[in-house]
Amino acid sequence: MTFHNPGAEVYVPDGSAADQAISRTTHFGVSAHQDDLEIMAYHGILECFGRRDRHFTGVTTTNGAGSPRDGLYASYSDEEMQRVRRVEQKKAAFVGEFSAHVFLDYSSSAVKDRGNADVVDDLKTIFSAARPEVVYTHNLADKHDTHVGTVLRVISALRELPREHRPQRLYGCEVWRNLDWLNDNDKVIFNVEPHENLAMSLVGVFDSQVAGGKRYDLATLGRRRANATYFASHGVDESTALIFGIDLTPLIENDRAEVGGYVQGFIDRFASEVSGRIAKLS
Ligand SMILES: [Zn+2]
Repeated sequence: MTFHNPGAEVYVPDGSAADQAISRTTHFGVSAHQDDLEIMAYHGILECFGRRDRHFTGVTTTNGAGSPRDGLYASYSDEEMQRVRRVEQKKAAFVGEFSAHVFLDYSSSAVKDRGNADVVDDLKTIFSAARPEVVYTHNLADKHDTHVGTVLRVISALRELPREHRPQRLYGCEVWRNLDWLNDNDKVIFNVEPHENLAMSLVGVFDSQVAGGKRYDLATLGRRRANATYFASHGVDESTALIFGIDLTPLIENDRAEVGGYVQGFIDRFASEVSGRIAKLS
């Protein structure tokens, strides 16, 4: 398997051959940055954890350059930060028992550049080899440009594959902006209650991010807890941790579906629920 960037790498925690590790994939996550998968695609990691019949593979599109740094890491150069973040992602892949993790090593600007066909090409290479059943990626209403760039490249790559090689489900999940705002019947609900210790470890190993001044570990578990508690106003909590997603599968079933229009539909239904309630009670 070859990729466009010389710094691209396939890491296989259990030491299997890279091709074998990719081809056994059932659940697949594509994120912009090191640590995004552990936040947004934890459901896929959990589905495969400790299983012999399911395997999670992760992909990170960017190289982690330009990330904020503080404390221990304040004096690190961009190159040193990229190295640290790659090692941290490998630690998480090991702890989470990933089948493989693929580092595509692009700059953020390359991922955001709609004219750069290399990112799409590399994603096609991995998708073709992995043929996953389920894909988790960023959601289209995220507020980070590189995240939205990544999901757009994922949709393009999947649309260029033969239909029989496409996954059965494509989900957009929460990092920079949660999905609590979606109408309840527009939410995909992932129960991620089991192995809270694992959830904590997976985000916690990204020391350069967490000790760098952002408590992603506490915030991520807090968001999942809040999602679970605030999901239903009646009755007791049925789960202590939920992740919300948007089903993006229709965008890879209909290649002509307009991406902006698709997410606008969710926003319009939210707007009409809010205004409808006010009209009803005024
Ligand atoms: Zn990110």
